[in-house]
Amino acid sequence: MFVVLFGAPGAGKGTQSLLLREYLQVPHLSTGEMLRAAKASGTELGLTAARYMDEGRLAPDELVVGVVCERMEQPDCCRGCLFDGFPRTVTQARLLDEYLSHRRGRVGVVIDIRVPLVELQRRMLERSRKERRVDDTPETIQRRLEVFHTQTAPVLEYYQEHDALESVDGIGDPEAIFERIRQAVERHRHSCDVC
Ligand code: ADP
Repeated sequence: MFVVLFGAPGAGKGTQSLLLREYLQVPHLSTGEMLRAAKASGTELGLTAARYMDEGRLAPDELVVGVVCERMEQPDCCRGCLFDGFPRTVTQARLLDEYLSHRRGRVGVVIDIRVPLVELQRRMLERSRKERRVDDTPETIQRRLEVFHTQTAPVLEYYQEHDALESVDGIGDPEAIFERIRQAVERHRHSCDVC
């Protein structure tokens, strides 16, 4: 099954994707992690992506979709995978659908983890103090939240039209949130004959 884990920066996608990967037994494709790895290896693609990431802006759609599709050619993705931080624009969502339709697949469910803005800001500032990620300064945090609302939130409407959207409350302890996510996945599993 192809599952998209969706949520603003700070919504808890990282924690939940680890639990969901275990449950679904499919590879976990985090574009944030993939781009950070490309940056660390110093490839041209990685350096291009870094220019955007370090400012809290989105990397170009073609670049990101290229990286994801290349990864999906690996045999371990044949039964599905879990997307985390992708698609982040409507163009990425369309390109992913195109790619999956060539494989006779489709996105089975999109889990939207909902967390109020003030709580997102609080969590991200706390993370920036603990982890010291280079793109976690107060300015880039603010930029990433703005980018989420302008460029990424429309992805939800796209999936709503395709009847694939499930929203879950992202407040609570991680196991309780995971249980909501698990039930949402199961509601879509039966209707998902090609994914
Ligand atoms: P967060 O969810 O905390 O913003 P991520 O690790 O998902 O962090 O992403 C970090 C950065 O990587 C983003 O700010 C963006 O620059 C880049 N990035 C990740 N995924 C995508 C994507 N699907 N499209 C464009 N850029 C992306």
